[in-house]
Amino acid sequence: MPVSCDYCPDGHTASFHETIRNGLLHWLLTYDCPRGWTESIGWHRSPEPFRQAVLAQEGTYRLELPDGAGSHRVAFLKALRDGGVPRSALDRVAGTRTEMELLAARVTAATPVRCEVTRAG
Ligand SMILES: [Zn+2]
Repeated sequence: MPVSCDYCPDGHTASFHETIRNGLLHWLLTYDCPRGWTESIGWHRSPEPFRQAVLAQEGTYRLELPDGAGSHRVAFLKALRDGGVPRSALDRVAGTRTEMELLAARVTAATPVRCEVTRAG
């Protein structure tokens, strides 16, 4: 995903990516600038300006309990809490596609529920 470059005032673009690696969110920021090539990486949660850029460019995604899976609601909510979702956000879980796919994988590992990650906006 292209993002603006911090080093080039002339509109040069850098590249930012979120992926899942070893069951964790992994992000990668690459500047392939006229002045040189640099790369930053990190885990768990993207730096907020880049996370906002991902949401703006790729959309907000949502994770919901599938129809008919209501009997697993308690286990579903526990898996979300264990995945770091604050109690106040449990009824409306949303974020980047990678964040939601990671949570869906946690739910799948912990419950019989197979969640779908859907684009919300
Ligand atoms: Zn640049």
